[in-house]
Amino acid sequence: ETLDKGLEKSKTSFFSKLTKAVAGKSKVDDEVLDNLEEILVSSDVGVNTTLKIITRIEKRVSEDKFLGTEELNRILHEEIAGLLSETNSGEATEFVIPINTKPYVLMVVGVNGVGKTTTIGKLAFQFKKAGYKVVLGAADTFRAAAIDQLQIWADRVGVPIVRQNMGSDPASVAFDTLQSAVAHNADIVIIDTAGRLHNKVNLMNELTKVKRVMQKVVADAPHDVLLVIDGSTGQNAFEQAKQFTAATEVTSLAVTKLDGTAKGGVVIGISDQFKIPVKYIGVGEGIEDLQVFNKYEFVDSFFK
Ligand code: GDP
Repeated sequence: ETLDKGLEKSKTSFFSKLTKAVAGKSKVDDEVLDNLEEILVSSDVGVNTTLKIITRIEKRVSEDKFLGTEELNRILHEEIAGLLSETNSGEATEFVIPINTKPYVLMVVGVNGVGKTTTIGKLAFQFKKAGYKVVLGAADTFRAAAIDQLQIWADRVGVPIVRQNMGSDPASVAFDTLQSAVAHNADIVIIDTAGRLHNKVNLMNELTKVKRVMQKVVADAPHDVLLVIDGSTGQNAFEQAKQFTAATEVTSLAVTKLDGTAKGGVVIGISDQFKIPVKYIGVGEGIEDLQVFNKYEFVDSFFK
């Protein structure tokens, strides 16, 4: 069964689709470009970024007069790496935070179900493993389950959590968390926030208030606003990025569930379109299944 799954995935991978699209062809022509466009869109790269890539390839075709299909692979690889480089440094491989920022305040946003709580738990685990003192803040007070889930992760990792009852003011929880972090000399604070999108104005007001109140304790908090998106949901992920970037200043992305999809093009499209770096990728449900995003590895995996 595992083998079947693996085959199923490879059958639909970007690279295998590409190989199929150029089979029997020696040069890149309009038909190949049309197929390529379709493959990029179906890999969740997104329409805008797809058109950008296609336009660049067209330009190379017209400059070189003849572009062989065997070269297409290399050129695409270059173009995609180039796009990712505009936003992602790709240098980091470890879970580190800047020195001289203590406590470092990480505010995590995203809709329910994308893997926000899991990502916070995994991050807490990695940061703790790296030697940092971590505190979690359960500022998603809208759902009792959200607070309980975060508590489970806190216990599992062995880090303290600051929480209040369901329905209490998220900003108040964030405030308490930062105060506790300062009092206990913590290095990193990770604040969970509510993920309701049905009311954009509420979302914006809530996140703005959480930020403002946190700044009473740590003047330049938050140092990072991490948006968690589900990499297997394609257009939904783009829509969520649009909504959250409109509601608050998002400074980095975590793309989850990349283990369950042969697509992953969301990573390319979203970081290009929103000019936000991808910092972490989720590759499973386990505590260790979070990686620091490495653009070189990512591009290579896209072409395998
Ligand atoms: P939240 O509502 O956004 O806090 O979502 P949760 O953290 O509760 O996660 C929702 C579901 O997605 C859970 O079943 C998680 O185990 C699962 N999940 C989270 N991240 C990943 C990932 O990277 N890969 C896979 N396969 N599942 C994930």
